[in-house]
Amino acid sequence: VERPASVIKELLENSLDAGATDVRIEVEAGGRRLLRISDDGCGMIRDDALLAFERHATSKLVSVDDLEAIATLGFRGEALPSIASVSRLVLETRARSESVGTRVEISGGKLLDCNELAFPGGTSITVRDLFYNVPARKKFLKAESTELSHIASLVTHYALAHPDKHFELHSSTNAVLVAPPVAGHSERVYQVFGKEVLDRLIPIAAVQPLERLGLPQPRGAGALARESSERDDGVEESRSPGELRAHGFVSKPEIQKLNRNSIYVFVNGRLIRDRLIQHAILEAYRNILPPTVYPVVLLFLELPTAEVDVNVHPSKTEVRLRQQSVVHDFVRDSVRAALMKSASRAAIYY
Ligand code: ADP
Ligand code: MG
Repeated sequence: VERPASVIKELLENSLDAGATDVRIEVEAGGRRLLRISDDGCGMIRDDALLAFERHATSKLVSVDDLEAIATLGFRGEALPSIASVSRLVLETRARSESVGTRVEISGGKLLDCNELAFPGGTSITVRDLFYNVPARKKFLKAESTELSHIASLVTHYALAHPDKHFELHSSTNAVLVAPPVAGHSERVYQVFGKEVLDRLIPIAAVQPLERLGLPQPRGAGALARESSERDDGVEESRSPGELRAHGFVSKPEIQKLNRNSIYVFVNGRLIRDRLIQHAILEAYRNILPPTVYPVVLLFLELPTAEVDVNVHPSKTEVRLRQQSVVHDFVRDSVRAALMKSASRAAIYY
């Protein structure tokens, strides 16, 4: 946990993992004084609410095989305890199966209270005074407006990734984002950024079958996967390696940004920063954009979970792709094709 936006990222991913369709976030003083996130997800029963604050407690790994195919956004069971150790945190939650909810209060990692609570359902987590007990880290926080803009950008991009869900972000003075569910990604872009931006974006949609499985090398999890695909008589069952899918938007060359901050890449629903994919995108714009400027990109990559290892970086913003060059070239070619198609259409019109 480095800053308010990283707290929001963890809590937002937990809400989405919990099946929420409505996520509301409140922020005071750029998130330093207060962060609150409320969702309509599955909620937790009392025992799980307490367990959630134990390190490495996660409800998301059901069997060993799951490690190989992590479909949910979180799985390390570290976020809640880390956040609770550097703030004053209140969790309110109710599972649908329960008639009464639970309230847990933790301050600086110490359990202060755990009680029954009348609660409508879902989960609400309030984080006050982030880093109150870690002055060294508090010192590194930026101006309130900067922290708020990081949060706004994060929530906006999760809203773009999930057009079917309701997102709201409020600061003490205004409604930063109010995004009720819409039909699809372009409706969401229109809703959030307006017509002018949508007009300058090109939709991208591409699919490519994988030729093989990018099994982890050489032993360990790979051996497991091999075993499961081999029958008793030693005959290999044909296991389809699946496919790569890309969709989203890339900007026309007339949009020129001075940095990479408008390039957003989601891998299987998770916002990530990946050098390889960024490189592939910039390769696609070579000779289309001058080398010192950058496009606006909103790219959603979907790949079989066995093809991507998300357990590389604690904040899960990095991934390791099993077939790096295949994914790189797929992204480069899909983006390039979208740009070319739009350019040739423009040439016909003018
Ligand atoms: P992880 O997401 O890696 O499992 P976390 O520390 O983020 O670990 O969360 C611990 C556990 O708490 C989760 O596995 C989940 O069972 C539960 N949890 C956290 N947030 C929510 C939520 N918003 N709704 C329901 N359950 C939640
Ligand atoms: Mg989590």
